[in-house]
Parts: sequence; structure tokens; C-alpha cells
Amino acid sequence: MAKKQFKTESKRLLDLMINSVYTNKDIFLRELISNASDALDKLHFKALTDNSGITAGDLYIRIQPDKKARTLTITDNGIGMTKEELEQNLGTIAKSGTLAFRSAMNAKDAKDSSNGEKPEGENENTEVANDGPEVIGQFGVGFYSAFMVAKRITVISRAYGSEEANMWTSEGLDGYTVEPAALAFPGTVVTLWLKDNAGDENYDKYLETYTLRELVRKYSDYIRYPIKMEVETTRVKEHECECEHEHEDGEECTCEHEHKDPEYETVTEDQTLNSMVPLWRRNKAELKDEDYNSFYTDKFHDYEAPLMHIHSRIEGAVTYNSLLYIPASAPYNLYSKNYKRGLQLYSNGVLIMESCEDLLPEYFGFVKGLVDSPDISLNISREMLQQNRQLRAIANGLKKKIRSELEKMLENSRSDYEKFFAAFGLSLKYGIYESYGMEAENLQDLLMFRSAKEDKLITLREYVDAMTGNQTEIYYACGESPEMIRSLPQYKYLIDKGCDVLMMTDNVDEFMVKMMNGYKGKPFKSITDNDVNIAGEDEKKAMEEKQAENKELLDAIKTALGEKVKEVRLSARLADSPAALTSEGPLSLEMEKVLSEMPLGGEAKAERILELNPDHPVFEALRKAKDAGEDELANYAKLIYSEALMMAGLKIDDPAGFAAAINALMTK
Ligand code: ADP
Ligand code: MG
Repeated sequence: MAKKQFKTESKRLLDLMINSVYTNKDIFLRELISNASDALDKLHFKALTDNSGITAGDLYIRIQPDKKARTLTITDNGIGMTKEELEQNLGTIAKSGTLAFRSAMNAKDAKDSSNGEKPEGENENTEVANDGPEVIGQFGVGFYSAFMVAKRITVISRAYGSEEANMWTSEGLDGYTVEPAALAFPGTVVTLWLKDNAGDENYDKYLETYTLRELVRKYSDYIRYPIKMEVETTRVKEHECECEHEHEDGEECTCEHEHKDPEYETVTEDQTLNSMVPLWRRNKAELKDEDYNSFYTDKFHDYEAPLMHIHSRIEGAVTYNSLLYIPASAPYNLYSKNYKRGLQLYSNGVLIMESCEDLLPEYFGFVKGLVDSPDISLNISREMLQQNRQLRAIANGLKKKIRSELEKMLENSRSDYEKFFAAFGLSLKYGIYESYGMEAENLQDLLMFRSAKEDKLITLREYVDAMTGNQTEIYYACGESPEMIRSLPQYKYLIDKGCDVLMMTDNVDEFMVKMMNGYKGKPFKSITDNDVNIAGEDEKKAMEEKQAENKELLDAIKTALGEKVKEVRLSARLADSPAALTSEGPLSLEMEKVLSEMPLGGEAKAERILELNPDHPVFEALRKAKDAGEDELANYAKLIYSEALMMAGLKIDDPAGFAAAINALMTK
């Protein structure tokens, strides 16, 4: 029989498949099952209108491995294909039967919308539109994926309503044949002659019950028709019990006479491998927390129950179901390159991507879950997905949903939220920082910081609401720990003024704050900034006068310290401390510290300013030192500068010099 050639495009694709561009060969089974499921959908839909009496319960998919022959057969009793359809559908990729069917149905739907079943388990307010069998697949790359594992494929098919069957056969690139065949029922039987094992490539595994069952569970669990397979199991052989009583069927004998050891026998039984109804398509009302939680721990391999689940169905320009989870704790590698972020993506119950990154913004990367949409095509490639409009719409919807659910949690169950924030707050902060503040509006109300006044976590809104008097700025302080922050010289001044201070202890905090444009019109201000706005006019004026009076002394100290500081000045904000170090310009001392700990960030330096407390006895000592001579003042200047460095949590430049100066002081 003359071989027919594949169309050029198909040939190219086939070539790719034979040479396996997909590293994941397992997906061939998913593709064949999804084709079978489409064929069943088509028949089911047709049956709804032609009074044939066929119901969904009659339809099935069967998987049959044959170890001896090394074949794997996938059978369905769906719509089948005529000879022409076999040629067209399997010889040409440009022609997708599913697509053609879908447009035909849409046209029909427009005329008559009363037929068809309502998809099960829908909840939420919107009524579900009836769009027939929700067929999937925009381009026919699916079928050829079987050539990743098979050296030869036959497809025997009989179209529904016809007595005739045909067999399509191909061994790959050199074409295919179609010849008459026999099939007892309408439907399709696809048989794969598996490739020979070679090196690492083991094709025998596709004959193992275990592998097949796992693959069905993983990729096709929620196909709406049963996927059956004959499975060998062992069971206890029934034998006559010697005692006198009657036993109910299957009941163990409990009398005290001797029982023979149980004997086992191997039997073949027909099992359905898939669970058929996805949890996420079921009605929220009929699901309990346990259902959601065990689904989560099972599917996402977490031993801990999630903090929250978000189950929703959206109808609109894009229709989708989503089931999202917020884990209870952060995985150890969340902030490393190894962490795999993304949601599972299903197209009508068929898994098409294990982790689709584009569905979540990076800062919500800790969210686990899945999305199922009939509007995403089954065979869409990764590159195409990125520019896919539907996908972007879904991602946008999910982002808003997650945020609003978190806001709800913050409002209604504070302790859960604090747990959440302890685990994932950092991710939100990075989200603001890395977007250069673009995401600030989105995320700012989800942030929490420790309040100095209340010694508990508060939100920015709570901080601002509690602001009183003439406070116009949001005060924050950065440091390694709350204790470090409380010992900052400027801290007491603000607390005494009645202001609260947000204590920021994460490295990213101040970098993030600098990316934010204040909060609700209130600017952020570090308590170490010299232009803190809380001081009254009188206070400022008095300080300016003192500054002028002491100009000579301040200049002399600056000269003694040289390039170490940019300026030496007086401050009214040092309360009990004699001196403090602050900075001017974009980089703060805290930021300098963080950067210096990074592998490549060592060179950035904050502009340092030494502030002195004119009301402290040490200031008097400095004045006396100046009168005593240049050397004495230089010594004191270094001492007070070193002290300020230490108070700011920085290393002193010259420990030996510092020690010598202290020693000199103590032995004077
Ligand atoms: P797609 O499923 O995206 O259309 P495939 O390459 O997977 O592309 O399949 C090509 C076409 O072959 C299908 O559209 C369908 O018309 C036909 N086909 C494949 N398998 C079957 C089957 N089991 N029963 C009926 N038709 C099938
Ligand atoms: Mg397909």
C-alpha cells in the first residue's frame, strides 16, 4: 500500500517529537487521554441531541499494557473518526479537529442554548454559561507526542453512526497508511509499539501498572470519564471454615477452633484510575477544611496544614477556577534560586503545566495552588503562555484576590496574620523594594512593624491613626534588634515627645522605605535623620544660637577628625547621650552596614555627621580640652567619635588608638 506523506508542518513537528524536544516524555499519555476525553465529550454532546440514549455513564477510556508484545493501547468509545478524518486529523497539524468542532458547536450554541448539561459543582454568585462540552485544544501537537515513546503507532477508529472502521499506521517520518479494519464499537483504539530501551531511556516502565497509575493520577486525575485498567491484585482465598456456624459473606470467623493459614490468589480486576471530579470544581458548601487541607498536604507535599485556602470561581472575559493555599511556614529555600514558584495550570481538568510562574507576582511566590481554565489551550507552549492575554487576566485576578484575602485575614484573625507575616512578610517587603516602589500601593497595607510604644506589631495605618499633636512624619529606626534601637541616642527624644517609632530589624526594611513615597501623605523619617520635624520653633532657634556660639570648638573637632566626618554639629535630640552619629544623603548608616555585608556592596559609604549634645557634661570636657591644646582636643575628638560609632552599632576605625586613649584617660 502506498505511503502518504505528512504535511510539511506536521513533519517538522513529528521530527521534533521523535527526537524528543520535550524532556518530559511522560506527557504523551496525558495527550492521548485528553484526545480520548475530547472524543467522549463530542459523543456525549451529540448524544444529548440525537436521542440515542447514550449517557455519560456509558463512556470510558481504557489503558491496556501488554508486556509480551511491548505495546500500550488506549481505547475510547467516543465519537471516532472516518477514514477522511483519520487522514486529516492525524496527517496534518494545521487542522485541529477539536478546533473545528468547537467553532461548529459555537455556531450551533448561538441558535440553541437550551441543551447540554451544566458543569457540576459551581458556586459563587454568577450563573455558569453553558458552552457545551468545553472542548480543548487549539493546535494538534498532542497526538504526535506519542512518537516520543513509540516507534510505531496504529489508530483503529470507527466513526459514531458508521459500521466501517479504518486503521491508520505510521512508523514516523516516512509517512502513514490508512486501510480498512474492524472495530466492534464506535470509538478509537490507539496502540503504541514502544521504542526499545536505550541507555538511560527506559520505555518498559510505560507497561507497568504502577507507572501508568501514577501518570494518570498526576496528569489526568480529573478527566470526567473513568480511565480504566485491568489490574492484578492478590487477595485472600476463600475457603470453607470447619466450624459449625453460619458466616455472613466476607465475615471473619471468630470461633476458637483452629483456622488454616490464609491462602492468597491473584485476580485481575477492573479499576478506575482517576478520581474524575476535581476538588476545585466541587461546591464550596460541600467541602470541609479537612478536605482542603488533606488535598493540600497530598498535592503540595507539605506536612503542615496550610494557614488559609482561597477557593474561587470567576466568570467573565476569562473563566477559571482557582484553589490557592497560603502555607503555614516558609520553605527553607524560599529566598534562594532553587525555590520553584508557580501554580499548577489545568486546561479543563487536564494538567498542562506543573508550575506556571506567570500566574503569580514574585512577591506572592509563596502561594501554592492551581488554576483550571477552559480558556487556556491544552497545547500552548511556554513562550506563548507568557504573552497570553487570558493568562495575564487570570494572573491579575489572582493577585487582587490574594491581597484582599490577606487583608481580610489581617482584619478578622490577627494572630493568624501575624503568623503569616512572620513567615512571608519579607517577601512582601522585597516586592516593594524590587519594584522600585511600583507595588507599594498594593502592598503597604499588608506590612507590619514592631511599635516601640506598644511593643507589638502594628500596621502603617494603625501608626498613622495614632499620630497626635504636631507629628507629621512616620518615625522609624533601623537596627539589628529592638534593644539596639532602643539604645540609639535619638530614640528617647522622640519617645519623650510622645511619638511612636517603628522598629525595623530586617535588612531590607530601610531600602524598602526609601522606595516608598511615604504612606497616605505622611513621609517616612528615620529617627537618626537630622531634620526630624517634631522640634518646635523655639527649640530650633535656641539650637542655632548655640551652634553659632560654639562654632570654633566644632570646627576644631572637625579638623581633628578630618575626612572621617562631613560635619560636626550640635543636636537637641540626644537626651542622655553625649554624642551620636547620623548621616546625610541617600545612604544611611544602617544601609551602609547592610551593603558592607554583601559580597559586592562593600564600597558604599554613608556621609557621617557627628552630633554633640551641648547639655551633656562631656561637652564641657571637650571645651576644656580645646583650651588645653590641640593634642588633647584631638584625643578627645577621637574618643567621642569612637563612642558614637559604637552606639550606632558600627566598628571603630582604630581599636588600638581607642584603647590607648582610654588608658591615658584612666591614668591621668
Ligand atoms: P488536538 O487534540 O489539540 O486537536 P491532537 O494532535 O491531540 O490535537 O489530535 C489531533 C486530532 O485528532 C484531534 O483534534 C481529533 O480530531 C483527532 N483525534 C485524536 N485522537 C482521537 C480520538 N481518540 N478520537 C477521536 N478523534 C481523535
Ligand atoms: Mg489533543
